[in-house]
Amino acid sequence: MRCARHPGAETLLTCVTCGTPICPDCMVETPVGMKCPDCGRAPLPAVYRVGPAPLAVAMAASLALGTAAGAVALTVRPGIGLLLILLALPAGALVGAAAGRAAGGKRGPALALAAAASCAVGFLFGAPQAATLAIAGAPLVWTEALVVVLRRPIYLLFAALTVVTAYWRIH
Ligand SMILES: [Zn+2]
Ligand SMILES: [Zn+2]
Repeated sequence: MRCARHPGAETLLTCVTCGTPICPDCMVETPVGMKCPDCGRAPLPAVYRVGPAPLAVAMAASLALGTAAGAVALTVRPGIGLLLILLALPAGALVGAAAGRAAGGKRGPALALAAAASCAVGFLFGAPQAATLAIAGAPLVWTEALVVVLRRPIYLLFAALTVVTAYWRIH
C-alpha cells in the first residue's frame, strides 16, 4: 500500500476516519488514532461556530447599539470629547458582550468581525440619521450623514475605539 499523498512512501497505516492510506510524513496524531491531514484538521469548537440566524441577530444588535451610542455622542455638547474617548472602552465591551449574547453565547473572529462592522455602520450612517431625525425631524441623505461624522474627529476616534474594543471583546 502506498500513501495517498506521497506515492513514493510504502505504508501500512490508514486514516481511522476515512481509510485513506497515510504515511508518517502526513499522518496527524489525534486522541482517537492516526488520521489523514483532511480528517485530522481540528474541527472548530462549537462556541466558534455561528449559524446565519444568530449572526444576523448579533449584527442587528451591534448596528442598533452603534447607532444609539453614536446618536448620543453626536448630540452631546462638543468639549466633552475626552469623556467620550474614556467611554469608548466600556461602550465597546458592551457592544461585544451584547453581540455575543445575541448570537447565543458565541464568540470568535467571524462573529467579532460581523459585530464590529455592523457597529461601525451604526456609527457612520445610523447615528447621524438618528441624531438628525431627533433634532430636525427629517432624515439626511447618506452622503450628508457621512459629512456630519467626518467633521468630528473626536467622534470618529470614539467610534473607532468602540468598534475595535467590541471586536476584541469576542474575537
Ligand atoms: Zn481521513
Ligand atoms: Zn504521506
